[in-house]
Amino acid sequence: MARDLGTKYICFKCGTKFYDLKKPVPSCPKCGADQREAPVAKPQTARQQRAAAAKEAEEAEAPAAEEPETEDEEDEAEDAGDDE
Ligand SMILES: [Zn+2]
Repeated sequence: MARDLGTKYICFKCGTKFYDLKKPVPSCPKCGADQREAPVAKPQTARQQRAAAAKEAEEAEAPAAEEPETEDEEDEAEDAGDDE
């Protein structure tokens, strides 16, 4: 029989995942933060979300891979403006 653990939370302070076990006060088992006092997450812009997600993915998939991204392809029609 599956136990009902209540609502799942991710602590806004320390990031611990836990269930409130249907307690009236959902407090983090690790740091004790009352999740009802969590700051309301502001809706991020799509760009911010993407950046954050990309960063996470990068850090998770490529540990210590420091490849300098040199994409300096700027000599493309740079001097095409003097044909008066
Ligand atoms: Zn916590």
